[in-house]
This record gives sequence, structure tokens and C-alpha cells, in this order.
Amino acid sequence: MEIAVIGGGAAGMTAALAARKCGGAVTIYEKNDRVGKKLLMTGNGKCNFTNLDFSCSYFRSDSCQDKEKQVFFDSFGVDDTLRFFEELGLLVKNKNGYLYPFCEQASAVLDLLRFACDRAGIKTLVRTEVKKLCKKGNKFFIEAKQTNGDKVDLVRIKEEAVFDRVVLACGSKAGPKGIASGSGYLLAASLGHHVITPVPALVQLRCKEVFFKQLAGVRSTCALTLYLDEKEIQKERGELQLTDYGISGIPVFQFSRYAAKALSEKRNVKVSIDFLPDFSKEEYSGIIHNRFERKKGEPAEEFFLGIANKKLLQLFFKLADLKPGEEIGESNRKKWEKVFSLLRKFDTQVTACNPFENAQVCAGGVSMGEVTKTLESTLVSGLFFAGELLDIDGRCGGYNLQWAWTSGHIAGENAVKGADV
Ligand SMILES: Cc1cc2nc3c(=O)[nH]c(=O)nc-3n(C[C@H](O)[C@H](O)[C@H](O)COP(=O)(O)OP(=O)(O)OC[C@H]3O[C@@H](n4cnc5c(N)ncnc54)[C@H](O)[C@@H]3O)c2cc1C
Repeated sequence: MEIAVIGGGAAGMTAALAARKCGGAVTIYEKNDRVGKKLLMTGNGKCNFTNLDFSCSYFRSDSCQDKEKQVFFDSFGVDDTLRFFEELGLLVKNKNGYLYPFCEQASAVLDLLRFACDRAGIKTLVRTEVKKLCKKGNKFFIEAKQTNGDKVDLVRIKEEAVFDRVVLACGSKAGPKGIASGSGYLLAASLGHHVITPVPALVQLRCKEVFFKQLAGVRSTCALTLYLDEKEIQKERGELQLTDYGISGIPVFQFSRYAAKALSEKRNVKVSIDFLPDFSKEEYSGIIHNRFERKKGEPAEEFFLGIANKKLLQLFFKLADLKPGEEIGESNRKKWEKVFSLLRKFDTQVTACNPFENAQVCAGGVSMGEVTKTLESTLVSGLFFAGELLDIDGRCGGYNLQWAWTSGHIAGENAVKGADV
């Protein structure tokens, strides 16, 4: 049983190992000069490869419901992932449920996968980009471009590029140029698959207001609410990072896929920021009241000192028309009350998300409506999909790699097991 795995990333290598374990003869095609380049970048080079806090609702898709996703994770979930890596020899570090290799080097995860592929006798063709994939009868034919330094050879269809089964695991357009690729979408589409237009996800958002330039560098633990066409969509909490163009940080990443999709549909996207999320409404009223009683008469900059980042306060003074040296009193109550209210509800208009090269993943991809529970195409038998190429994207926190391990395992195993040749 000859199996081709197109794409030597996290999902592709997992698929290759699963297929080999089931007795398939496996060839990985990888366009880069080495496999797993994106894996090396994950978790800031530390590789947050899964998470003990698990729910299907942490995975988003336009073409797959939670109930359907559950089937995949029932088949190969977090425990299976831990067993898989334990068998490969990985020592794991647990940081509040976020799991990393103990040495906190992504290269350890990649090397374990690479060595396992080599040991299993999996053939790996690097610098080999699949340009064309077609099926004739019950065989798949692959046409690939091999690059050797500056020399480019076109390897045309020939005997050894014929396969019984194919796993497409080409990843998405997200990530730095040269590492990410959209070619998997084209290969899938060439075989009749519907690709839900990918947009960047786990990505920074750009905002309309010019004052962001003066806020660059501010970091603050906040509660953020995403509104699409004035409707509340999602709340997130965590460290917000303000940049010269807008907003970044984990809480922004978590809802960025909804913002990116809405922006691509020309909808109105707003984010409301609460810079003091730890206080209830009542507590905050008490703080305001006490502060006024104790500190009235002080200049504004002294009155507000320590409540929030100085850069923020300077902006909010400006927006409330309050001079930093102005004494706080009854006469300017409206102005200082506005500063207090901006600290709890600061609305910003989102105009764009950063491009694919800044994104960690894509929302969209090959429709889950066109694959079975074993991730086999419903249109082309013997064609399987794995990884980010599919229309499933996870929250930040190790979930996207979990999807790569889950889908890679299912696709690789079933490419051999489910075969009738
Ligand atoms: C900066 C960054 C940090 C991240 N951090 C985390 C994290 O900490 N935790 C987490 O869970 N997720 C993280 N992710 C997301 C995670 O890396 C991806 O979801 C995951 O790597 C997807 O695996 P994949 O195998 O589907 O795709 P990829 O890893 O992208 O692999 C696809 C492979 O296919 C190859 N390829 C594409 N087209 C062809 C072709 N036509 N022929 C031959 N080869 C081809 C590509 O070169 C690539 O090597 C991060 C992503 C980025 C960009």
C-alpha cells in the first residue's frame, strides 16, 4: 500500500507515522528544505503542543458542529497525544495545563518526529513541492517540482509517483512567507473540494483611531468584548498589548478570527476594552467616591496616579478635555467622571486584521462537510486530509497542534486501514 503524505508539518509527520505503523509504505513530500519548519516557531520556540483544559468548543469551524468535532477527539484526544509523545520519548512540562517539551525547545518535538519517521523507514522528499495531484482509476498521480539549490527540475508523472492513497496536509497560508503556503487549497480545489475562503486568525487587529501611536507599548490586564454590527459576540480576558496601529495580545488573538471573517464581509467590527476588569460596578463606584472625598483639589495627574498606565491616562485626559494640571472638583465633575468611565469602557473601531504572515493560523479551509469521520474525502475516495488545511481552527493554547496530532493520526491510520486495494 503506497501512501503519499503531501506536507511535512506537524499533521503530515503524524499521518506518516500512523500510516507506517499500520503497514503502509509512506513517502512525505515537503516543499521546504526541511520538514516541520513551522513547528519550530510555535509557542515562541517552546512549542505549546497541547493543553489539559480541553473542550470541543475551543475549536472553531463554519462547516463542522461541536458534536462532529467530538468524534475526532474521541478517536485521538489529548491522552492519546500524550501517549504518542511519551512513546517517542518526550518529557513533558506542565504550565497550568499548557503542555510543552520539558526542555522548552520546539526543536525537541520536531527532532523526535523526524527521527521516528527515519527509523520507521518513511521516505522524505524535501525541496519537493507537489504541483499537481490527480486520480486515474484507483491510483493517484503526483507531479512535483524539485528544487536543488538554484537548479530546478520538474519531475513529471512517472512510475514511482503513483500512490494508492494520499494524505493532504499542506497547512494554511498563516505564518511567515516561505514557510506558509496556500498550495494545499489549490490541490484540494483541483480535485473538486470546496475551500472556505481562509482569513488570518490568532492575529493582531488594526484600529481606526490615530491616537494608538501614542499608546504603543502599553500592556494591561483587561476584559475585552468583541461586537459585530453592534452585537456582542465574545468576551475575553488577559494581557492586552497596545501597538502603534491597534490591539494585540492573547485576548485579541482569541476572537480575531471572528473579527477577520466579519471584516472580509465588510461588517462593522468594534472592540470595547475594560482596563479595570477586577472591580465590580459597585466596587468601582466606591473607589471613585472615596478617591474624590480624599483627593479632591489635587491636580488631575496626581488624582489619577497609579490607577492605570500613564500613557493611557494622558490620552483619556485629552478625550475628556481635562488638563493634567487641572484641579479635581465639583466644577469639572463631568470631565473626571468621563476619565473614570473610559477606563471601564473604551471603544475602538477595528478596520483590518494583520496579514497572513502575522497570523498563527487561518480560519477557513477545506470544508469539513466534504470529509468523513475518518477524514477521507467524500468526493475522491482514498484522498484524506489533515491539519490546518481543513476548516478547523483552535483557540490559542496548544489547540491547533492538538488538531494537527488528532487529524494527522486519524487520516494516516485510515489511509491504510480503510483501504480496499
Ligand atoms: C508563530 C506561530 C506560533 C504558533 N504557536 C503555536 C503553539 O504554540 N501551539 C499550537 O498549538 N499552535 C501554534 N501555532 C499553529 C501551528 O503551528 C499550526 O496549527 C500547525 O503547525 C499546523 O500543522 P500542519 O501540519 O497542518 O501545517 P504546517 O505545519 O504548516 O505544515 C504544512 C507543511 O506542508 C508543506 N507544503 C505545503 N504545500 C506543499 C506542497 N504543495 N508540496 C509539498 N509540501 C507542501 C509546508 O511547507 C509545510 O511544511 C503557531 C503558528 C505560528 C505561525
